[in-house]
Amino acid sequence: MHFDHSYAKNLTALVTPMTVSPLSEPQLQLYNQPLAEQLELDPSFSEQSHLFTQLFSSQGALNQHAVAQKYGGHQFGGWNPELGDGRGLLLAEVVTHAGQRWDLHLKGAGKTPYSRFGDGRAVLRSTIREYLASEALHHLGIPTSRALCLVSSSEPVYREKQETGAMLIRACQSHLRFGHFEYFYHSKQLDKLDALFEYALQYHFSACREHANPHQEMLRQVVLSTADMIAKWQSFGFCHGVMNSDNMSIHGITFDFGPYAFLDNFDSQYICNHSDHGGRYAYDQQPGVALWNLNALAHSFTPYLSIDEIKHVLAEYEPRLLDQYASLMRLKLGLHQPQEDDLELVNGWLSMLEQDKRDFSQSFRLLCNQAISENQFVDHFIDRQRAKDWFVQYRSRLAIETLSAESRQLQMQQVNPKYILRNYLAQIAIDRAEEGDFSECEQLLKVLANPFDEQNNFQSYAATPPSWGQDMEISCSS
Ligand code: AMP
Ligand code: MG
Repeated sequence: MHFDHSYAKNLTALVTPMTVSPLSEPQLQLYNQPLAEQLELDPSFSEQSHLFTQLFSSQGALNQHAVAQKYGGHQFGGWNPELGDGRGLLLAEVVTHAGQRWDLHLKGAGKTPYSRFGDGRAVLRSTIREYLASEALHHLGIPTSRALCLVSSSEPVYREKQETGAMLIRACQSHLRFGHFEYFYHSKQLDKLDALFEYALQYHFSACREHANPHQEMLRQVVLSTADMIAKWQSFGFCHGVMNSDNMSIHGITFDFGPYAFLDNFDSQYICNHSDHGGRYAYDQQPGVALWNLNALAHSFTPYLSIDEIKHVLAEYEPRLLDQYASLMRLKLGLHQPQEDDLELVNGWLSMLEQDKRDFSQSFRLLCNQAISENQFVDHFIDRQRAKDWFVQYRSRLAIETLSAESRQLQMQQVNPKYILRNYLAQIAIDRAEEGDFSECEQLLKVLANPFDEQNNFQSYAATPPSWGQDMEISCSS
């Protein structure tokens, strides 16, 4: 195993070398062993003393080449050039034997030149939320950054109230955001933009270099992977909450978790971020906002591509998204023989869930049950006649299918999770962790690692929220 530092060493003008500011009384609380193995990390990193030496001592392998990255971003539609790693550091890159490159990035590392008025810290609550969400999404099959480990501390950190500081090491292909490219374009530092593109093409989009127009192919890859990610968010009812362009990864992975939520009762206009007064990032706005962000990113390709070349690529977003979404929704309804009007059936179903305020995930799971009678199905809804009509239509549509009912049920259960990370479940785990007990975090992570299985001993984790856990106000200040 060796650590690489390709970004820090190739792009010295785009980073600031930094060291990690340790926290008081740090404790290694969560360590993602399966991910560590995937990254081929030395087993000694799971030992607190070894990890802390590498992380906190000046010559430590995870500290001596750490850098803060500069980027900007469109936040709620407005350009902000003042962004960058304000509390995070790129520690190192891991290259596996198969040649896969992973960034190791520390959140909550202390102040940097990009901290502005912030303290450079992350609170325990938000690091747990990020840890849980990235692992939950990963096990649902949604592309995402991953969580490697979480360190708690006794360090007071002030938000709306006094909390404690914590650190999270996350891992993903790279931390290149839309906002990296936007920043060097808008600040007219075209030599740096050039260097950034060269780097991205060499290290992360090398296959694009085989194409006649590598920049266009790279933009195309970003467009397609973003469309695929959004299709998955929509089909699983995931709301990101802060889709600013600095929180969008060029790898099409879910990134920078804040006040996210999985839908409970289906509300297509659900806003999970309580600071998002206009609903810019509401559930049903996510597909359009991603395209808006891709447009913003595309501006930074203008030194290399004509407007027509850019338009041509951006035009691939909508059909790709619709195609992926339709495929996912068909599978969720158990429709393997595509028919033209399948989406009407899907939309009829969603509109019924919305009208009767039914739970998004539980309703899909109910639909998996092929033995359900018409009456049992109708009992799930308030508008019984509408539910009955839809069910009759659905059953007659299923007649075209060739799979047996048993096989269809099994397949549907593999795409309709029984267990999702509801905000109230995360909150219970956080409350316990804030008292020093991380066992509930561990337990929840275990349940969410197999979201499609029945898990008879853990049925309670599939429950809809109690009254205190409905529409929770998740603080944005993390
Ligand atoms: P976020 O809302 O976490 O995506 O962060 C937006 C910007 O604010 C980024 O440039 C962050 O680095 C910065 N930031 C967020 N929280 C802090 C903090 N506590 N201290 C310093 N910078 C922060
Ligand atoms: Mg961010």
